[in-house]
Amino acid sequence: MEVLSIAGFTAAFARSPLPVGQDWLTFAILGAGATAHIQFTHRQEERRRNRTQTVLIDLTAVWVFPATLVLPATLAVLLVVVIRVQRWFTARRPAHNFVYSSISHGLAAALANLAYNSMGPQDWQTLTVPGSLREFGLILVTALVYEVVQVCYVGGILVLGSHAPTLRTVLGGKADNLLEAVTIGLGAVTAVLVVVLPPSVAIMAVVTVVFNRLAELDQLQDAVVTDPKTGLLNMRGWTESADRALNRVRRAGSTLAVLMVDLDHFKWINDTYGHPAGDDVLAAIASTLSGVTRPADVVGRFGGEEFLLLLPDADTAAAELAAERVRTTVAALRIPTTDKRGAQATISGRTASIGVAVFPRHADDLDGLLQAADTAVYEAKEAGRNRVRFAPVPR
Ligand code: GH3
Ligand code: MG
Ligand code: MG
Repeated sequence: MEVLSIAGFTAAFARSPLPVGQDWLTFAILGAGATAHIQFTHRQEERRRNRTQTVLIDLTAVWVFPATLVLPATLAVLLVVVIRVQRWFTARRPAHNFVYSSISHGLAAALANLAYNSMGPQDWQTLTVPGSLREFGLILVTALVYEVVQVCYVGGILVLGSHAPTLRTVLGGKADNLLEAVTIGLGAVTAVLVVVLPPSVAIMAVVTVVFNRLAELDQLQDAVVTDPKTGLLNMRGWTESADRALNRVRRAGSTLAVLMVDLDHFKWINDTYGHPAGDDVLAAIASTLSGVTRPADVVGRFGGEEFLLLLPDADTAAAELAAERVRTTVAALRIPTTDKRGAQATISGRTASIGVAVFPRHADDLDGLLQAADTAVYEAKEAGRNRVRFAPVPR
């Protein structure tokens, strides 16, 4: 990775002209905008970063991307340095991690600059309409290069360093990528402004501060429907998704199943190993439930040690199969954790009792299904735990 980055920087710097007076002025304007952006979003960015679990979208591309278009590669990379030095204080990342992502930002800027200049850009002040269309195309290609370099550089190391990389942890989710695209789009607008009407870049500084806020709002929206302990949907999130699924199934004249999973003698784990161990077990069960279900299934935490699964289009037979699969997978789990004194421990042989209710057989709305599944859980407990029970069919 280091060799790759040195080669990239060398190629970009070798082709880069020496900065002239105007370049330094533009650099100063972009640097001032970036500094205002970073300093005025300091606190809020710390919160956003603490909450981020997948790849982090850095919003300072609003300033770096225009630099790749309008400045020599050397100054574009210098701007990255100016930004990253300030960012260090909010980054909350280990040093090696921080340096690595700084290099990826710099390399993306250098190579995007190289790509843009080798396509033969024109002077923006004197563009004709067809000329401006061509120029817009070049900006899109440059944005693509900028993005691909970062994805490959950061994603590459994530793939190399992770035991089970998923597309989501490496590339980020849909919202992350939309955020990234908007950031680069704002960067392109900033580039036009800094060339045509430099003082109006002040507007972009305000826009980016507000934009940073919006990026946090998106996270908060997710947080409202997520259970922080397990990362599953909380009751609000589960009910919203479950309602949607039920409506769709009802329109299609299909069936669905609701599984309520209650861990057996969970209190014993807390009493024996301590509450942190109990939490580890909850997290392990949660990821197991996500793992043994399909993407369309709705998995949530109902409360303490109870989980809910909604399986769209499952009939009684499919629900029984799924419930048995959950039951046997949970029973086979070996969960690494710590005991009350903080020593390593492994918890295994834990079981769950599962109550199943099927729409429209047991009830025809969500409340009814939950009630029926809950009744079935208690029957499973009565019958000796570690088993699946169906709800009684109403007369
Ligand atoms: P049963 O087999 O009858 O379900 O027994 P149980 O011990 O699982 O059931 P009970 O409802 O008596 O106890 C549930 C326990 O779950 C009590 C509570 O302390 C624990 N619990 C609930 N939420 C959490 C949590 O978030 N973390 C931890 N560690 N424990 C929790
Ligand atoms: Mg319970
Ligand atoms: Mg229980």
